[in-house]
Amino acid sequence: MLKIVEIFYSIQGEGTQVGVPSIFIRLHGCNLACNFCDELLHKGEYASLSFDEVLERIKVFPSMHVIITGGEPTIYNLNGFIEYLQAYMYSVAVETNGYNFSNISNANWVTYSPKAWDVIEKYGYDEVKFVVSKDSDVEKILAFKSYKPIFIQPQNEIDRPNKENVNFCVEFVKAHPQFILSVQLHKFLGVE
Ligand code: SF4
Repeated sequence: MLKIVEIFYSIQGEGTQVGVPSIFIRLHGCNLACNFCDELLHKGEYASLSFDEVLERIKVFPSMHVIITGGEPTIYNLNGFIEYLQAYMYSVAVETNGYNFSNISNANWVTYSPKAWDVIEKYGYDEVKFVVSKDSDVEKILAFKSYKPIFIQPQNEIDRPNKENVNFCVEFVKAHPQFILSVQLHKFLGVE
């Protein structure tokens, strides 16, 4: 059974796959409690659904691209669920803070968004995303290198961009072009 907070259909607004129409499955719970968390729904109510029940809910949407998010999805071993969806020809992306990559080892795409920057993992993902505000200690990430795309994403409000942080991130990537700007397009478009 999976602890499902919500299932919705939208576009990916972040990172490499921005613009891809995607089915989002939000799981309950997280190992962290970040003060800037804009995914507060993961702390609320949830439904316990079987794999078949989730499939029934997602197959009403035309996309074959699923994004599992949270909360922190890797507090659960999701490999069986990912395999189940792949058997129905879905491609499965997962967004993680890096809690346990082995719980999502068969995902088609992994977005790693480390929240504490003292230790940053080097393997186990397809892109890295640092959520940055104008007050962030960006010195900690300046030396970070990866063969994967490294995104800087402004810490935005829950439902809209934070202009100050957006401006900070724009100037940051211009000064440090090993980073790429990820803006949370959905918040600029005003969609879920
Ligand atoms: S890791 Fe993500 S979901 Fe968990 S508390 Fe931090 S921002 Fe929220």
